[in-house]
Amino acid sequence: MNYLKSTISELKESSPAQTEFYQAVEEVLRSLAPVLEENNYYKKHAIIQRIVEPERQIMFRIPWYDDEGNIQVNKGYRIEFNSALGPYKGGLRFHPSVNASIIKFLGFEQIFKNALTGLPIGGGKGGANFDPKGKSDGEIMRFCQSFMNELYRHIGPNTDVPAGDIGVGAREIGYLFGQYKKLTGRYEGVLTGKGLLWGGSLVRKEATGYGTVYFADHMLTARGENMQGQRCLVSGAGNVAIYAMEKLYQLGAIPIACSDSTGTLYHPQGVDLVAIKQLKEIQRTSLSAYLNIHTDAHFTPVSDYPLNGHAIWQYQADAAFPCATQNEVTTLDAQTLIANGCKLVSEGANMASTQGAVEFFLEAGIAYGPGKAANAGGVATSQLEMAQNASMQKWTFEQVDQQLLQITKDIYQRASDTAKEFGTPGNLVLGANIAAFRRVADAMIEQGVV
Ligand code: NDP
Repeated sequence: MNYLKSTISELKESSPAQTEFYQAVEEVLRSLAPVLEENNYYKKHAIIQRIVEPERQIMFRIPWYDDEGNIQVNKGYRIEFNSALGPYKGGLRFHPSVNASIIKFLGFEQIFKNALTGLPIGGGKGGANFDPKGKSDGEIMRFCQSFMNELYRHIGPNTDVPAGDIGVGAREIGYLFGQYKKLTGRYEGVLTGKGLLWGGSLVRKEATGYGTVYFADHMLTARGENMQGQRCLVSGAGNVAIYAMEKLYQLGAIPIACSDSTGTLYHPQGVDLVAIKQLKEIQRTSLSAYLNIHTDAHFTPVSDYPLNGHAIWQYQADAAFPCATQNEVTTLDAQTLIANGCKLVSEGANMASTQGAVEFFLEAGIAYGPGKAANAGGVATSQLEMAQNASMQKWTFEQVDQQLLQITKDIYQRASDTAKEFGTPGNLVLGANIAAFRRVADAMIEQGVV
């Protein structure tokens, strides 16, 4: 795999210190070996060199006033990675860990995820190293307005359509949309995840979590099983995790643990989702407060996590749904999950598992759905929101949910069929990467060297 080594070493020179980005590129390129090594077609068109380089990277200053009247400054990003299949599409992340490497890895993943949906959407991602925790509503609003003061000139309903991600939910999308409208004078579908009163789509809020569970169900169905009665670990307690747990209950499964940035909650009789929504969506507080409601639950603070691992993956369960952040399943976590009898992992988060963990899952032969396939229901529903905005229509919850179910089924089928075609049945990492790559690469070639 010479092209892999040379691409990574070129990236290390041209884009230094972007560890997460190299990891995402390496994971895709490893899967592409059977496509790249067997024929010269993609090589002749320099597709690898072109696809790892974003079409455009925007970095900007975000000055804003805090409640004490002090000026704060953050760093903003929008990476418009690839528009071969449609307008750039991908979320905005507000988290103190955000840097160019994180946004580039997310943007790179997004190209392939969006291609897998079969919908006309290109790949992009953005965000800021801003920590929304502990900020007042006024501070969040002023920050979002300042962010949009720069971003608005780069986005539009037919060019680049951002959505939410970690730290960016309905409240932030509202403030961002308001400022876009103020600056441009246009009321248009420039963001997805909008409020239901003003252009949002039903099911968008639930879509990533629901979709990740639908994807798990498709994987199990292919193995002659279903979600009924499965005991599940769901990391995170944000948008994706909450609606993954909701769908698990609807399909007869039992989420027994979840987590947040303060620690892991274990409630073997089944997590009380009403309490979780109250704590995380309304009060925006630590999961440890759950113990005030359910004294029989157990909470492990982050400081007590195992070295190189995470407390949530130490519990015995049938299925795992990583729905918090990247690299949250380490090799140690993967080994523990398998040793405890886990037979399915479906990633709500992007690049949730380290390379070592992924290899372990594949060798163990469990049902493993990589994030770019398993969580693509979110962006697919964003595209359904764009379609409703463009046609001035509003579809019912059931209409959108049925489309989401079908899209996740198609994604599963595409990844599964491609894995079979290349002689590795069940390897959805390889199947997803190759199926997505061919779609993007062929479109790039047809559109010429641009
Ligand atoms: P949220 O901000 O709503 O929730 C994130 C959750 O994960 C929170 O509970 C947060 O804890 C926890 N978390 C975040 N970072 C860390 C960390 N470094 N260590 C421990 N816990 C952490 O984000 P989303 O639910 O929207 O996103 C979760 C994942 O899903 C991300 O990887 C995102 O890229 C991916 N994703 C999201 C989509 C969407 O539609 N929203 C679409 C596709 C993928 P706390 O509550 O304490 O902040």
